[in-house]
Amino acid sequence: MSNWLAGAAEVTITPPLGVRLTGFAGRTSGATGIHDDLHARVLALEADGTRAALVTLDLLGLDADLVECIRARVAETCAIPAERLLLNCSHTHSGPASISLRGLGERDSAYLDVLTRTVAGAVRIACDRLEPAALRFGTAPVRVGINRREKLATGQMILGRNPEGPLDPRVYALRVDSAAGRPLAILFSHAAHPVVLAGDNLWITADYPGVAAAVLRQIEAGRGAPPVALFAQGCCGNINSDPVGADFEAARRLGTVLGAAAAIAAETAAPLEEVGLQAATRVLSLPFLPPPSVEEAAAAVAAQRERLKQQQAAGAPTALQQAMLEWAEDTLRAAREPERFPGQPFTVQVLVVGEVAFVALSGEVFIELALDIQARSPFARTVVLGYSNGCSGYVPTADAYPDGGYEVTDAYRYYGTLMIAPESERLITNAAVSLLADLAG
Ligand SMILES: [Zn+2]
Repeated sequence: MSNWLAGAAEVTITPPLGVRLTGFAGRTSGATGIHDDLHARVLALEADGTRAALVTLDLLGLDADLVECIRARVAETCAIPAERLLLNCSHTHSGPASISLRGLGERDSAYLDVLTRTVAGAVRIACDRLEPAALRFGTAPVRVGINRREKLATGQMILGRNPEGPLDPRVYALRVDSAAGRPLAILFSHAAHPVVLAGDNLWITADYPGVAAAVLRQIEAGRGAPPVALFAQGCCGNINSDPVGADFEAARRLGTVLGAAAAIAAETAAPLEEVGLQAATRVLSLPFLPPPSVEEAAAAVAAQRERLKQQQAAGAPTALQQAMLEWAEDTLRAAREPERFPGQPFTVQVLVVGEVAFVALSGEVFIELALDIQARSPFARTVVLGYSNGCSGYVPTADAYPDGGYEVTDAYRYYGTLMIAPESERLITNAAVSLLADLAG
């Protein structure tokens, strides 16, 4: 009978003041303060000589080159291949520009160089700490968010409040104790955009997930040395924290509620019956919606250029308008040479820990996809994460397209050039379910 080995590590990844924050357009300067530190946290696991690591980061997302850089370093120093390295971002909207979104903040290459080395180093530290461990899994009810797709009486879809809309009112917890019962790590997941602090905030903060991790750590410290508390963001593409654009007190409140619920999930967790790690990854090419005609695209460029001129003349801030002009120019390129835009790479990763399946998706995925994958998964315990191993933009349900709204008609202009097509939902959920079925044997 084989046993688990586990190790955990936590490092700060707080950038210096002055770096550009990302997540909101129109921020007028770089970071002017630090409210709370940002962290990278690692849970390394080993079973039967097979090693894997789950890494959570207090960042909005990761560009593909950063993912590659971290993967290469971890493969070299820890013998963990990309397939068994899960990188999840909390999606805090008050962190540094670690993902390139048009007009939403320039990357700081000096910081990102240190970031990738720090994260890879943390994985190494967690691997160096591997020791015999016991794993448990549990869930508890909690709700810190609200479905944000609100349809007005006029038919317009806005970023608002839709209390009847779907969400996942649960927190999932994977609890890892040493063989002697000392708490090592608790990885917990819930789905809600960390946007308690909004665009007017220029202080670095992990938002409510940072508070939740701190609260969980404090509660569990009662059992001995406090564990590493890792927050993994779920599929919150259409779920916002409730409230949005409030203050640090609201973030504290939400984080405390989530942290306490995570403690309940951890304390009531049942031991895993199986020991073993399995992983599989599929990189999809999601089809794009067809580009506009060359005439339409050229007219859009002219219109954006005109708008920029007007803003310059009025002395208004132009960063966002500059970005929209750039997007219009890229769209014109796509209209002229559609073959240069064959599809959006999208990563579906499955990591099975004992009998608990983690599905990690590289986008801002609507919660319905997570619920669908769970319902069709052969694993009774399936946790679906977004913002993992990079982030290519929103993935709405096919049903959401006719209603439009920010996630369908606007956000892709920050992320890239063309919007993915409605069939993306089915391609992603089918790929996830098929990988899960393969691993379930
Ligand atoms: Zn988002």
